[in-house]
Amino acid sequence: MPTPPSATPRDEPVIRDRGDACPGALRLHAADDGYLARVRIPGGLLTSRQASALALAADRFGDGHLELTSRGNVQLRGLAGGCGTGLAELLDGAGLLPAPGHERVRNIVATPLSGIGSSGRPHVTPWVGELDRLLCASTRATALSGRFLFAIDDGRGDVAALDPDVTLLGGPRGRALVRLGAARGAVEVDAADAPRAALLAAEYFLDSADAAGTRAWQVSELPAAHAPEEGEFALRLGSAGIAADVLPQVAWPYAPSPRPWGPGTGDRTPLCVLPPLGRLTADQWRVLVGVAAGGEGDGELRVTPWRSIVLPGASTRRPLDGYARLVAAGLSVAPDGPWESVTACTGRPGCAKALSDVRADARAVVDAGEAPAGPAGAPVHWSGCERRCGHPRGAAWVDLVATPDGYLLDGRPVPSHELAQAVADARRQPRVSEDAVKK
Ligand code: SF4
Repeated sequence: MPTPPSATPRDEPVIRDRGDACPGALRLHAADDGYLARVRIPGGLLTSRQASALALAADRFGDGHLELTSRGNVQLRGLAGGCGTGLAELLDGAGLLPAPGHERVRNIVATPLSGIGSSGRPHVTPWVGELDRLLCASTRATALSGRFLFAIDDGRGDVAALDPDVTLLGGPRGRALVRLGAARGAVEVDAADAPRAALLAAEYFLDSADAAGTRAWQVSELPAAHAPEEGEFALRLGSAGIAADVLPQVAWPYAPSPRPWGPGTGDRTPLCVLPPLGRLTADQWRVLVGVAAGGEGDGELRVTPWRSIVLPGASTRRPLDGYARLVAAGLSVAPDGPWESVTACTGRPGCAKALSDVRADARAVVDAGEAPAGPAGAPVHWSGCERRCGHPRGAAWVDLVATPDGYLLDGRPVPSHELAQAVADARRQPRVSEDAVKK
């Protein structure tokens, strides 16, 4: 079983001399395979119309593929120079650019299965839209970095484990916890106040960063002398008319990510689809949109931070309606498939820093059939260099980093002919954890 993360120690304070360089839908990144656009999808929530617009953008301006990110966003690659205006107009027409000045700060992940089935937990998905609306209306929020992350968790502890800067955790009796960074404590507020409290938490961080003068991008980068405190935060909430109780110690829950196919919950069983390495062709994406639109509800799709997609209205009880079409399109919809928990950065040829085509290398190992899948295997991440972009968060994971001479596996060189077996062994007994290194 995946292991819960231990409490993350505070990182050393970081002195920044510039703003972050995260790409957006308007600020494109010049990669080796063309320009890259990252479209923020708060909560990973997409209507079928918005999803169709993304496929159109990939075909019209990009390389015909869509990539899912570790924050539940969507990337387009291989964009031609000069496409910015057309891309922005297309996205804006689909409601994917509601506030151009805020487009890079709309980083919100949310429990993908919230409100589906009868979990007994609060349905927190509506908080996503409310927090996004508040963010986009806040001039102060434009000072947040493109890396600052909000997590809206329904109490099970899945997205709360992703090292967010602000966590909202739904609780019983209409209450919610609000936490800044990796603090052990939190403040408790009425659920109706939760989205506003999250925005105020972000503004508290900005004030702390200004006072520190270090231009921190994230809460973990603040010097200890300027670390947020629950008591001060509760006072700030009180000044804004939000009653808050301070909880010095909280037993934070932990739940692993949803697996392909998702849990069975009667007629509302959702499909959870896993595209290999989080990358789909526009045609595969349209199959997903079609299956979502053919199910119950309004055709909603939920992109997860684990590079999968939940279709809340598509039922596993009617396989002919969608299941078979997804399988025929090459998408994984069953647990224990070979691609489960296998991720990779961009690598060659898209990234100039890459020392290898990590996606091809990952495919070769998966094709070798050595690596265990599903609960028997820890997540494995392939990186083209030591920056380890997009690596897993929370649980222990297996770390593969390309070097000029081959791969390091959890820091040890491995001959290429032994790589598949070594990865399989490491996934059975992962020895390196998120907290140990991998920064
Ligand atoms: S980990 Fe290195 S090679 Fe991979 S995308 Fe990041 S910078 Fe590029």
